[in-house]
Amino acid sequence: MSLARTLVLKTSGLAPIKFLVRKSFLFRPLVGRFIAGDTLEEALKVSESILAKGLLVSLDYLGENTASEQEALEATATFIRMLERIAEMPVVQKWNAEHADSPTLNQSGDGIEPLNISIKMTQCGLDLGEAFAEKNLREVVETAHRLHNFVRVDMEASEYTQRTMDMIERVRGEYKNTATVLQTYLYRTPGDVERVIGWKARVRLVKGAYLEPPSEAYPEKAKVDEAYVTLGKRLLDAGTYPAFATQDAAIIKTLNAYATEKGIDKSRFEYQMLYGIRRDLQDSLAAEGYNVRIYVPFGDAWYPYFTRRLAERPANAFFILKSLFKG
Ligand SMILES: Cc1cc2nc3c(=O)[nH]c(=O)nc-3n(C[C@H](O)[C@H](O)[C@H](O)COP(=O)(O)OP(=O)(O)OC[C@H]3O[C@@H](n4cnc5c(N)ncnc54)[C@H](O)[C@@H]3O)c2cc1C
Repeated sequence: MSLARTLVLKTSGLAPIKFLVRKSFLFRPLVGRFIAGDTLEEALKVSESILAKGLLVSLDYLGENTASEQEALEATATFIRMLERIAEMPVVQKWNAEHADSPTLNQSGDGIEPLNISIKMTQCGLDLGEAFAEKNLREVVETAHRLHNFVRVDMEASEYTQRTMDMIERVRGEYKNTATVLQTYLYRTPGDVERVIGWKARVRLVKGAYLEPPSEAYPEKAKVDEAYVTLGKRLLDAGTYPAFATQDAAIIKTLNAYATEKGIDKSRFEYQMLYGIRRDLQDSLAAEGYNVRIYVPFGDAWYPYFTRRLAERPANAFFILKSLFKG
């Protein structure tokens, strides 16, 4: 992991920095570049314009590590509300009508919903108890199932990986319209890739965004990138509609070349990118006929998400630091 990335992830946790960045209007434009708005309605508007360009969306209600059962239940209710509002959108209704006969709707590449949701297990209350969080997750996935939608469970820090994987496996025993994310910086991930291939689950592959110790994750970026390519190829060969979530143009080029060489159709996988990052790449991939899904975050609990984006691009963080010292 680069020194700059570690520095940003560590300093952003300090109370005075947090206070200044959250409160100052100076950073609003930068925050607005990555966050689609404070409310669900604002995020749906942004989503509509993305869908109109022929891209797909995953909507993310920001928040993590809920500290009380009340907060976790409120987050769960918001996820359900999101699914209900999505189901009311004309573009989604049209899509549902066109795919009504697909037996594997939202489980495999046969029916790929235009607008799904991404949630976090610690939002559902994982820190407060596994059974409690699982009950909340089940409720969300059940609603999505009823409304022909799909729930992506983001992967958080490595202390949650095993519990998240086990929980998804249990819920998938009943509902197949959910799956999670695997991070190529973790040493354990090749084993987890084989596990999700066995489930026939739609996995999202990412490099990983959290501060991890060298006992758990590769400290060298080159190793993380190398693992991404190896595991990406494995998922192209044996996975079920994998999602490659990266803005790394070199990796995308390598995976596209591999898919072409192996005769794997573009419809059998998708790319995912974050709202506000590499729009040029999003548009050019879509123009070439690849499925591209944009991860659209909204809500007022944007600080941890925002600082992870800064850590990926330290130039953005240095801009903030410079502004702070200018007064
Ligand atoms: C859709 C999606 C979902 C994700 N879900 C998770 C998850 O559940 N769990 C998890 O741990 N991580 C998640 N991530 C984050 C991921 O782990 C990486 O931290 C992030 O994608 C940056 O890595 P990269 O693959 O784009 O490659 P990098 O090598 O970091 O970046 C490649 C290029 O992308 C551009 N870029 C990347 N980040 C930025 C930025 N912040 N600002 C400006 N340009 C940038 C730059 O041009 C850079 O050179 C997700 C990422 C995406 C795209």
